[in-house]
Amino acid sequence: MTHAAVSDKPFNPAILDGKGTRGITPPESNWAQKLDTPPYVGYGVTCGITFTFRGLRVDLRGQVQDIEDRPIRGLYAAGELVGGLFYHNYPGGAGLMAGSVFGKAAGESAAADIGGKAT
Ligand SMILES: Cc1cc2nc3c(=O)[nH]c(=O)nc-3n(C[C@H](O)[C@H](O)[C@H](O)COP(=O)(O)OP(=O)(O)OC[C@H]3O[C@@H](n4cnc5c(N)ncnc54)[C@H](O)[C@@H]3O)c2cc1C
Repeated sequence: MTHAAVSDKPFNPAILDGKGTRGITPPESNWAQKLDTPPYVGYGVTCGITFTFRGLRVDLRGQVQDIEDRPIRGLYAAGELVGGLFYHNYPGGAGLMAGSVFGKAAGESAAADIGGKAT
């Protein structure tokens, strides 16, 4: 980071420390660091999407709902493509657990429907 752009405020990784930058775009709001001490090491980074938080609405049987919240006959969903379970954030491990729980419900419901009886 450009040496002169970094605020002289103290660095504190435990809070939003306000140690930002000025005169560069985009600006850094917090935790800006002067790169002034070699050796320098670079790492290639990329972002990942854990899951989207959005997707199909299902009922407790794992059956997909239409836009009027009526179950669509013969259509079930589980896992990543189910939406409405999490907002803003999620507990660790909840993605795979939700897939397991709704997968079991959807599978049992589909099997029951083929057999002609609802659960
Ligand atoms: C980087 C990352 C980290 C994560 N960490 C965690 C974690 O720590 N804990 C946690 O609980 N969850 C975590 N998740 C979320 C979790 O991995 C997903 O919620 C879960 O894998 C979704 O399972 P799924 O079976 O619905 O979908 P997927 O695992 O995406 O499986 C879908 C499968 O369908 C296949 N497929 C797609 N199209 C077709 C087609 N036309 N024909 C045949 N096959 C097809 C794909 O190849 C894939 O194998 C993480 C996700 C990511 C990306």
